[in-house]
Amino acid sequence: MKPVYSIVAPIYNEEGNIDKLHKRISEVMGSTGEAWELVCVNDGSRDRSLELLKAVAEKDERIKIVNFARNFGHQLAVTAGLHHTSGQAVVVIDADLQDPPEVILEMIERWKSGYQVVYAVREQRKGESWFKLLTAKLFYRLIYRITDVDIPLDTGDFRLMDRKVVDALNAMPEHNRFIRGLTSWIGFKQTGVQYVREAREWGETKYPLKKMVRFAMDAVTGFSYFPLQVMVYVSFFLGLIAVLAIPIFAVLRLIMGDAFFGGQATTIVLLLLLSSFQLFFLFVMGQYVARIYDETRGRPLYIVADKTNLDDVSTPGSQR
Ligand code: UDP
Ligand code: MG
Repeated sequence: MKPVYSIVAPIYNEEGNIDKLHKRISEVMGSTGEAWELVCVNDGSRDRSLELLKAVAEKDERIKIVNFARNFGHQLAVTAGLHHTSGQAVVVIDADLQDPPEVILEMIERWKSGYQVVYAVREQRKGESWFKLLTAKLFYRLIYRITDVDIPLDTGDFRLMDRKVVDALNAMPEHNRFIRGLTSWIGFKQTGVQYVREAREWGETKYPLKKMVRFAMDAVTGFSYFPLQVMVYVSFFLGLIAVLAIPIFAVLRLIMGDAFFGGQATTIVLLLLLSSFQLFFLFVMGQYVARIYDETRGRPLYIVADKTNLDDVSTPGSQR
């Protein structure tokens, strides 16, 4: 029997959270009185996460496991989870319980009243460093400004999606995914619910600065041409300065003779500055080119080592 609700949880070194996650989700979903499943994607955990998940899945067949061959990253873990769901409404949630499962009930209410996407907006974030709070705040606002789709502010991947939206998402083969952008891009009737994001119950964040930067670049390159277009303004600006400089320099040179810009220091500094501009823009272009390359190679998005309680779910083409 197909469940009405599917919950997707990406898991990377969360051994201290697995039992709590199962308990909280069972309580909340049990109160709906309808059938549900929890699809856990083990994203190459190096701790006992898989072992604990398997123990839970053995006793409770509503718990399904997609076990990755290695760590493919949060966004791909969520993607794989979505590929393996069969519910009519699908909720993506973090395994560390920073997103309180109780909010799901509110989301379900909205879904039943006719919305196809219900995203959770972080009214407040507890237990985060000032650095994370600041960079996250700037990130959401930057993305909002420069992208062509309306991606709601302060909203992570904690959201409910109707089967239609999940099917649309599953049909998107792109690598370097920014799932919240893709969901906004798909459209349908969307709404938000406010919630307080809790501190992590156990363990540390699995998003070090390096992953955060990569994630931000995927978001920008995936949904905006702004970084490519901004080059033209810099080019106009520098060109204008050059045109103005020629007559001014000529006159000053006539008046002051060799005393005017006799040295080479200025030339060297300017050369370094301009080279740095150019290399930076080459890097920006490189980011887009690398992503084109990722697409043309056509590698699968992820590799599954094995699955538990999921034998009957076929996901044709979903790995591409
Ligand atoms: N996660 C994952 N793969 C990764 C990094 C994180 O599956 O490479 C999972 C992690 O286990 C958690 C969720 O993604 O369930 C969000 O990660 P985390 O809590 O570390 O991020 P934060 O809340 O600090 O932004
Ligand atoms: Mg977290």
